[in-house]
Amino acid sequence: MVRSKEASGSNLNPDRPGPASTAGSGGRRIVLRVDPIACDGRGICAELFPEMVSLDDWGFPIIDGSPIPPRLVGAAKRAAAACPTLAFHLDAG
Ligand code: SF4
Repeated sequence: MVRSKEASGSNLNPDRPGPASTAGSGGRRIVLRVDPIACDGRGICAELFPEMVSLDDWGFPIIDGSPIPPRLVGAAKRAAAACPTLAFHLDAG
């Protein structure tokens, strides 16, 4: 099961920049998405991209819908490329 941080009421990294500073290149917002059906819950994404991904008690990723700060887009792409089920991906929101 993949939960949203907003839904769970938690904020894993309160020091993370807010939405005002998170537009992607060219002003496009890039956000994380996880396909909860495809995800097997091994947590590689959280290991590779802890800045914006944590795991719930069962090892499934918890992400929020906030845009990825431009400085973290490369790390997000590497985490997406490492996802064994292609469940973890970036989306131009
Ligand atoms: S790396 Fe992919 S399959 Fe593994 S927990 Fe993250 S989203 Fe799920």
